[in-house]
Amino acid sequence: MHLDPFELHRPTSVEETVRLAAELAGRFDYVAGGTDLLPNYKMHINLRPHLVALEDVAELRGHSLDRVGAMVRLADLEADPSFRAAYPVVSDALGEVATPLVRASGTVGGNLLVETRCFFFNQSYFWRSSLGFCLKADGDRCHVVPQKERCYATFSGDLAPALLALDAEVEVAGPSGRRRRPLTDLYDRAGDGIRRVCLAPGELVVAVHLPPGARGQRGRYKKLRVRPSYDFPELGVAAAGRWDGERVASLRLAVGGVETYPRRFDELTDPLVGRRVSEESLGRLAEEVMRRVRPVHNTFLLPDYRRRMVGVYVRRAVDEARQGTAG
Ligand SMILES: Cc1cc2nc3c(=O)[nH]c(=O)nc-3n(C[C@H](O)[C@H](O)[C@H](O)COP(=O)(O)OP(=O)(O)OC[C@H]3O[C@@H](n4cnc5c(N)ncnc54)[C@H](O)[C@@H]3O)c2cc1C
Ligand code: SF4
Repeated sequence: MHLDPFELHRPTSVEETVRLAAELAGRFDYVAGGTDLLPNYKMHINLRPHLVALEDVAELRGHSLDRVGAMVRLADLEADPSFRAAYPVVSDALGEVATPLVRASGTVGGNLLVETRCFFFNQSYFWRSSLGFCLKADGDRCHVVPQKERCYATFSGDLAPALLALDAEVEVAGPSGRRRRPLTDLYDRAGDGIRRVCLAPGELVVAVHLPPGARGQRGRYKKLRVRPSYDFPELGVAAAGRWDGERVASLRLAVGGVETYPRRFDELTDPLVGRRVSEESLGRLAEEVMRRVRPVHNTFLLPDYRRRMVGVYVRRAVDEARQGTAG
């Protein structure tokens, strides 16, 4: 596998980046750490002739407890003890992304925008060509659900569920200016599954913002994967909240790794506010989440097993978040 030639651009400000994006419309990709994009390029997946590197854009760097720049390396955030103490659910998730080597290059922005995955897609050009390709790259049908004209590739980022559980917001910049919106709105929930995020052409992620209420919440991220040292999530469950004695003061639950976008379940957790979480109510919550998710057969583990594990991991994540336990 090799990288085809491309032209590399290195803007130094957000404004210059956005101008460049407008000039190169449709013919470029942004590249941050490159740990997701470049392996896909090597497999000749959706190649573009231009890459716009975000490395030198100063505004995308640096983090505080309120704001994390899109170009912050996962390893740097993971190593910050004050960040870990303030946001245990994010810290859990950071420690579960890929390997330490990948985390040394991979960035927060890249992780939120990581390409969705499917075993008919994450393959070499020759492997894919033998099946006539698929909707997501170079082809016109889906091998997972052939009767539908949509893609079911799985969202496999670890950070998104953890940040969703904390009500994080995302700041984006593009040709029509800047905007800030809930992270949950970054993900395309109603589309064809191919376009994975709701960004206008040329828009880039500048930073993630954490609301004041997120700090100090008890939280856990539980990840299911085949090889614990290395693999993408087959399932990731994040729970974060506050407890007033035995009663729930606030609770958010987000699930990734099973559908095309990371998903929150406020309709199930909001009714728990003010109540004690008993074994029975936790069981009902787990059962309801399990009923709602729709994994398909496009990753290593079978969908029925992943769905059943959703129940197990929801129980564990909420229970451990409540107890404030680690490990
Ligand atoms: C062996 C291996 C194992 C992995 N395991 C995991 C895992 O367990 N969990 C996991 O979450 N990920 C995993 N990954 C995927 C990836 O390494 C991480 O998600 C990483 O955080 C991606 O960040 P990056 O900066 O390298 O992104 P890049 O590869 O540079 O970019 C990823 C995508 O985001 C876009 N992009 C990047 N930054 C911006 C921005 N600021 N604005 C707009 N668009 C942007 C790029 O155009 C590209 O489409 C794995 C990768 C490898 C190689
Ligand atoms: S779900 Fe279907 S369209 Fe999407 S990547 Fe897999 S095979 Fe291709």
